Amino acid sequence: MNGKFNPDEEQRRRNRNFRTILLLIVAAIFLAVLFQSLHAPSGGRPIPYSDFLEAVERGQVQAITLRGSRIEGEFADGSKFSTIAWPDDPQLLERLREKGVTVRVEPEQDLSMFWTVLLYLLLPAFFFGFLWFVMLRRMQGDAPSAFSFGRSQARLFNKEYSKVTFADVAGIDEVKEEVQEIVEYLKDPEKFVRLGAKIPRGVLLVGPPGTGKTLLARAIAGEADVPFFSISGSDFVEMFVGVGAARVRDLFRRAKEETKGKRGAIIFIDEIDAVGRKRGAGIGGGHDEREQTLNQLLSEMDGFEKNEHVIVLAATNRPDILDPALLRPGRFDRKITVPPPDLKGREAILRVHTKDKRLAPDVDLGVLARRTPGFVGADLENLCNEAALLAARRGKPHIEMKDFEDAIDRVIAGIERKGRLISEEEKVKIAYHEAGHALMSKLLPKADPVHRISIVPRGEALGYTLQFPLEDKYLYSKQELLDKLTSTLGGRAAEEVVFGEVTTGAYDDLKKATEIAKRMVMSYGMSERVGPISIGREDGNVFLGQDLVLGQAHSEKLSALVDEEIKGLVEGCYERAKRLLREHRRALDKLAQKLLEVEVLEGEQLDELLKEELARPQPPRPQPQSQPQPEPEPVPTPPPSAP
Ligand code: ADP
Ligand code: MG
Ligand code: ZN
Repeated sequence: MNGKFNPDEEQRRRNRNFRTILLLIVAAIFLAVLFQSLHAPSGGRPIPYSDFLEAVERGQVQAITLRGSRIEGEFADGSKFSTIAWPDDPQLLERLREKGVTVRVEPEQDLSMFWTVLLYLLLPAFFFGFLWFVMLRRMQGDAPSAFSFGRSQARLFNKEYSKVTFADVAGIDEVKEEVQEIVEYLKDPEKFVRLGAKIPRGVLLVGPPGTGKTLLARAIAGEADVPFFSISGSDFVEMFVGVGAARVRDLFRRAKEETKGKRGAIIFIDEIDAVGRKRGAGIGGGHDEREQTLNQLLSEMDGFEKNEHVIVLAATNRPDILDPALLRPGRFDRKITVPPPDLKGREAILRVHTKDKRLAPDVDLGVLARRTPGFVGADLENLCNEAALLAARRGKPHIEMKDFEDAIDRVIAGIERKGRLISEEEKVKIAYHEAGHALMSKLLPKADPVHRISIVPRGEALGYTLQFPLEDKYLYSKQELLDKLTSTLGGRAAEEVVFGEVTTGAYDDLKKATEIAKRMVMSYGMSERVGPISIGREDGNVFLGQDLVLGQAHSEKLSALVDEEIKGLVEGCYERAKRLLREHRRALDKLAQKLLEVEVLEGEQLDELLKEELARPQPPRPQPQSQPQPEPEPVPTPPPSAP
């Protein structure tokens, strides 16, 4: 299926580069020869000035022609010579007259001058002509398909080319569901238009490298059976001034022409961050060429007519650096996250990539999936290929489990170099951390319910526990906030309870917890000692990230009290979290084990798993206090117990 694209493209690019270099070398040699021939004296054998004087003295010179400082002449025997005159030699003319040499003087603007001028004119013309020539070649590319255009590098993948379908994309079923709508639309846009439905124009695929964004884009085109125009952001960057914008214009024009019929078309801009970086952010006011390209892209996105059924897909792994203008409504306003696969997903991807390989009966893809946490689709494809190579080298008729296992070690070495692999030990800690959060939400009556727990690393987060309130909430009671605070601290508490030490993994939790406590004390008047007063001065909208700062008009004493209360709240909740986790250690262990096994748990699975555990009589649990006080810990921290 796919995967053939890249080698082809790579090869083509290399050929193109090679040819460009060859052309440059030929041009350089040509210029050098031209230059040399112009500067060489044209009238006969060059001789030193002293020889010339001597020849004059001996009466061997018959005639000379003077052009500026240049002397060309003829010896008595008819042979020609040339030389450059001594700048100021008043006796020379005297001598020449004495010896009866015919002297002609000609103006300096002679033929060679003419050539020099011509050269100065021609050189730039030649240079730009050459650039233009190279550019043309690059743009035409050497696309093997019949659909290569003179003006745009976009390649139209016809049916033969984009044979990729959803069957080739595995392990990201939710994403496939999300893009199904786009496929339906592309197949029959009129159906949607008739009903007045508005389909997103621009869809941004976001996810770490190798998770299958490019593959998915191709699959959408394949499923809908529509033309697929693609270009990579990095292609724009290496282009000459003004070409990027022109190319964007052409790309959109071609795609729109394609939709004159009933069907849609796809434009795919891979690695859009290369062109779509925030404008004016670079040193020295940014990159003009890139900005022009980006501006053109923006205006094209805005310029669609109703009957032009073009969907623009773009892919990036750095959505954070994109220019906000790109994400505005009507442009790339739909964002689809393509996450790294979980355990089940990895197994499905392995199945896709072993479909046409000969496997020995002992190969268990489920086991392989378990052994490859942190692998993305591209890694798994690589793994299958490595295993096949190993088996071939070992002269086996089938690929055996042993080959896969050895291949895993190889691929891991590669991933480790890129620094995105998590060790077994770290994974256990992450599992306990997330289990801590989730268990808190089960144990605390007022905490938000858990929708999903995952220990599949995703972007910055090593794992996550998704918690949403059941309904939109505008009012929170103090108890609700305390429970929220406690469950936010549950991750770190679990680390301490189980391993006796904490990691940096709770960085974000602590920030969040402190913010909640700060708000409770400073804005909501929820601290008895501070009282029901508001002392927070908010700079703008705090929910947009601005900080809450203490107003100036308050006494040092109050400031100290506020700090104390905030600290007290956080510490109280932290102790409470630890106590609850100790009481429910069995449940915690069970949950963490399950997470290590399956990596992702949905809310219902969590309920199911803990039902039995939490129904069991637990040690007596104190009533939730209205204001948790940092209480003395009766139990010393237990030694780290094996999970
Ligand atoms: P991205 O564009 O996200 O960096 P690609 O789409 O280029 O990733 O993926 C590279 C290769 O890895 C694909 O050609 C495919 O063979 C394999 N791959 C990645 N994700 C998947 C997946 N979900 N299912 C099957 N193969 C995948
Ligand atoms: Mg890609
Ligand atoms: Zn956490």
